[in-house]
Amino acid sequence: FSFDLDALKRDLDGIELEDNPALVKQKSRDFFWYSPVLKRQLDDVTGDLVATPKDEDEVIRILAAAFKHDVPVTPRGAGTGNYGQAMPLSGGLILNLTAMNKVKAILPGRVIAEPGVIMAQLDRETRAHSGQELRLHPSTANTATIGGFIAGGSGGVGSIRWGGLRDLGNVIRLRVVTMEAAPRVLDLSGWELHKVMHAYGTNGIITEVEMPLTAAYDWVDVLVGFDDYMDSVRYADLLGNSDGLLLKEIATVAAPVPETYFLRHQKFIKMGQSLAILMVAPQSLDAFLALTEREKGDVIFRSDTASDLKGIPPNFELAWNHTTLRALRVDPAITYLQTMYAPPHHLEKIARMTALLGDEVPGHLEFVRFDGKITPMGLPMLRFTTEARLDEIVRLHEDNGCPVFNPHRYTLEEGGMKQTDAIQLAFKHEADPKGLLNPGKMIAFEDPDFDFAAQKTYLFPGLRVAS
Ligand code: FAD
Repeated sequence: FSFDLDALKRDLDGIELEDNPALVKQKSRDFFWYSPVLKRQLDDVTGDLVATPKDEDEVIRILAAAFKHDVPVTPRGAGTGNYGQAMPLSGGLILNLTAMNKVKAILPGRVIAEPGVIMAQLDRETRAHSGQELRLHPSTANTATIGGFIAGGSGGVGSIRWGGLRDLGNVIRLRVVTMEAAPRVLDLSGWELHKVMHAYGTNGIITEVEMPLTAAYDWVDVLVGFDDYMDSVRYADLLGNSDGLLLKEIATVAAPVPETYFLRHQKFIKMGQSLAILMVAPQSLDAFLALTEREKGDVIFRSDTASDLKGIPPNFELAWNHTTLRALRVDPAITYLQTMYAPPHHLEKIARMTALLGDEVPGHLEFVRFDGKITPMGLPMLRFTTEARLDEIVRLHEDNGCPVFNPHRYTLEEGGMKQTDAIQLAFKHEADPKGLLNPGKMIAFEDPDFDFAAQKTYLFPGLRVAS
């Protein structure tokens, strides 16, 4: 891509712009550095200009001007994605959506909001308005935007009850602006949502979201210890499958992760224990405790009875990719994988991988409802040595029937199902004919002949190295 940045700036007169290189670089990064592979590949990536629209009309003006001057545009919420999703591989303009952060309407069972609203703020407003909250949110709810979650995330806290974002009904409607000479504004719902959900902003800019809400409760955080990791896994599986209990979060982490990396909880944690990390609805607490006692779980922490919660983060900030973050802060050589252990033989698969890899890959499971079945998704930590060993560990999982969604790749396909998403590709051709939106992230658009079966990493030829 070559472009005349000054000409673009002249066309954006009146819109908030930032071209200070240090500040632009800051807004060109996300949490890509979780991966030593992406850190090597993307550390020098930076955009040229940040534009911060205050409303949809400004988004339309920015996209029309960028189209005219052939400038790549990479949308950005809070930049908490893990795969370089929000990083402008070919430079150009960063479209910072965080100023579009208004909650527009709260109705029974639904909320309409701008894409840049932080999810915890959204929940505060819907709770105060009518005792409602989002069905699911990532563990980054305190920092991440709803638009970034829909475009880049997959599921999280609440997925044990509601499944993932991809499940029909978990997003009601998205308003999307296309990247054309005269950008169009489309309202997508039903199956059409799939065109832009988890597409990394490669084929449209989300300017409004309509999300379903559910009843908000004062969730009780509970940590339950077990001397044996597999006992904690069996317990979590049982909890997930106990239909009468309402939980918002079920995760397990293997010893010695809690005692080594959960620094704020040290006073509760017992050496050698693996943990179940839980959020329980208050009305389910008595029944939950009865089940836990029968399963010989050691309740080491309860947020409703703990005498001093000062400095103690909520349980969901011990879970999902916060588990990895806590480990990384203590040991920078830690990275992670994303795996799946499909039922009905999920427990056997987990036991086999635990025995095979031991403390090189400390276990971390997130239990979610996947196509109606309680399914442990793995976010195991990994003590990184070399990229060759990392690839070998990925292969070992796949050879043992545990698919890996590789978090060490920056493209949609390699981080997902390793195949072309025909619907998203077709929509990209329609909505971004010049390929200016977040270039380099959709292999099927950049290189239609790429052979996924050859098992080679895709290297985007348009990757611009900073001078
Ligand atoms: P960004 O990182 O800014 O953007 C994400 C993607 O969406 C990028 O490709 C960007 O270009 C695109 N995008 C952003 N806004 C728009 C828009 N308006 N229109 C079109 N495209 C857009 N993810 C989960 O799914 N579940 C988790 O539990 C979870 N836990 C995490 C924990 C930690 C500690 C970290 C670092 C990450 C975690 N993530 C998780 C990943 C990430 O935090 C979430 O996906 C988050 O919702 C992303 O929001 P964001 O505002 O930071 O988006």
